[in-house]
Amino acid sequence: MSNCIAIDGPAASGKSTIARRVAEKLNIAYINTGSLYRAVALAAIRAGRDLSSLDRSFLDTLKLEYAENESGAYELKLNGAFPGAALRTAEVAAGASLVATQPVVRDFLLGVQRGFAGERMVVMEGRDIGTVIFPDAAVKIFLTASPEERARRRLAQDGESPDGATLAEVAREIAARDKQDSERAVAPLKPAPDAILVDTTGFSLDKAVETIIGLTARKLQESGICIMK
Ligand code: C5P
Repeated sequence: MSNCIAIDGPAASGKSTIARRVAEKLNIAYINTGSLYRAVALAAIRAGRDLSSLDRSFLDTLKLEYAENESGAYELKLNGAFPGAALRTAEVAAGASLVATQPVVRDFLLGVQRGFAGERMVVMEGRDIGTVIFPDAAVKIFLTASPEERARRRLAQDGESPDGATLAEVAREIAARDKQDSERAVAPLKPAPDAILVDTTGFSLDKAVETIIGLTARKLQESGICIMK
């Protein structure tokens, strides 16, 4: 069994916030795997590579590691430096989606991600953690929420108080991205057969975090693993 609490789910399902809070509560490391795909895209952009056809020799030159940042949180380092906000631009987000469809990239990052879970338990958040990266993860959670709820959260995150038309438009975009992610040939977004499905529609953030921590604690206890404080 891998020392991994896998939290998967679609875009804007609240994975990152919930996974970070769960890791803080359990006092263990948190790894956001989306940042790895973003880092590959950023490095390829900086190197002037064609993002639609990366090769293994380029990928093997990349150094990806997690290190403590100034505030003591673990953050991804790319080739020895924290890329920080450069990972969150629209160009890099679009590039990440593109590189994520290539088997060579997924295969390279599979090795990187497996290297992160060792003797200590980690919370790892993504889309294929419970299905591909750690099919034997100690705990598997698959988070979801209705497209409307996720649209509301996405807009609130950006500080917007939307009208009905904007909300419907963002919900449509989210539903389209779900469809694309779920239907892609390599590592499609889908819950592992043994994942615990949690629909957080209508939950506050605190309630979602409490629910996931409760489920995680029960699952770890059933498996005889003790990490709770
Ligand atoms: O989660 P985030 O938006 O940062 O992910 C960036 C991109 O990386 C997503 O669009 C998704 O296609 C891809 N990704 C993935 N598998 C993961 C994490 C992210 O395919 N485990």
